[in-house]
Amino acid sequence: MGHYDKFSRIASEREQFRTAGINPFGTCIDEVYSATEGRIGDQKIILAGTNNYLGLTFNAQAIADAQTALAKQGTGTTGSRMANGSYGPHLALEQEIAEFFGRPSAIVFSTGYTANLGVISTLADHNAVVLLDADSHASIYDACALGGAEIIRFRHNDAKDLERRMVRLGERAKDAIIIVEGIYSMLGDIAPLVEIVDIKKRLGGFLIVDEAHSFGVMGPTGRGLAEAAGVEQDVDIIVGTFSKSLASIGGFAVGANAMDVLRYASRPYIFTASPSPSSIASVRSALKTIATQPELRQKLWDNAARLYEGLEKLGYELSSHISPVVPVIIGAKEEGLRIWRELIASGVYVNLILPPAAPAGITLLRCSVNAAHTCEQIDAIIHAFAQLKK
Ligand code: PMP
Repeated sequence: MGHYDKFSRIASEREQFRTAGINPFGTCIDEVYSATEGRIGDQKIILAGTNNYLGLTFNAQAIADAQTALAKQGTGTTGSRMANGSYGPHLALEQEIAEFFGRPSAIVFSTGYTANLGVISTLADHNAVVLLDADSHASIYDACALGGAEIIRFRHNDAKDLERRMVRLGERAKDAIIIVEGIYSMLGDIAPLVEIVDIKKRLGGFLIVDEAHSFGVMGPTGRGLAEAAGVEQDVDIIVGTFSKSLASIGGFAVGANAMDVLRYASRPYIFTASPSPSSIASVRSALKTIATQPELRQKLWDNAARLYEGLEKLGYELSSHISPVVPVIIGAKEEGLRIWRELIASGVYVNLILPPAAPAGITLLRCSVNAAHTCEQIDAIIHAFAQLKK
């Protein structure tokens, strides 16, 4: 048996997609013109399926700062944070993130994925028990597997189910690690953090919140769900990424002073190269923009409401609340694929999410808005969906 044989079913399915036109699993965006527009083949498209929430990918200051860093510090660090890959700006960014959150310590990682891997696998070793939301991101599951902890899943966003499982743990609940996300990436729904913190106060536990999709998006100053919910002091570690609202690449963890020791034990921190100087420079610039331009967050939520209400009026099935991630729930996979292709043909790119990537085996057209979308662009997205109803 060949080593690739086990992939034959998925390979033939992908081949069918390829021959039928654009492949949803390897869509090439041939050109990107701005935070909101690009081109796929001959088709100019509105980008309505990204994580560029504040629309900062083409921010002039971030580009200028990245260009300066590129010229002054080179194209890459060629080494790990622990060896030759910690430059002044990496440390400066850690300081800036810590200050932004009002916390003692921050660690910069190479991606959001390795931030979760680096923090969770190190803390959640084979002696630990982890309670995690069933819809957790793959990086959280992979981190638990790498660390070797015992995993207990609780029902998505169900604080009562978490509490039941904590109670069952008895004495072990005190040291259990609880992991949730801020905004969940597929359905755009939000963790019941106030209730979870209440459980932690009564039963114990160490709380990690992955704010990948909520950092820069929620909270009066953009620090995320924990800030919005008023429970920052009760969250032990916040993990985040540079690849969404900060429009670059890399990841971070922020928490207590004691967290700093993870640097000396975390394999995903030690055994990979650090983010390149230009990435770090653009993140530092974007972080300043988040701090000084709260109006971007307002525009993001205004756009989210405009798209949600427009699609709701057309009768599409959406999630139960408004967020920058607006999932259009489609019945069958084939239908999802057809609609997705037609949207591209009418100039709108959204993410096609097929099972098992979407929770509960559903097919989603994951639309997401950003602060750079104009009202006209949001209306064009709604118009493209309206045409499909005809
Ligand atoms: N956590 C969550 C919740 C995510 O959605 C993602 C990315 N989709 C990550 C972590 C990983 O972040 P990155 O893509 O920056 O590695």
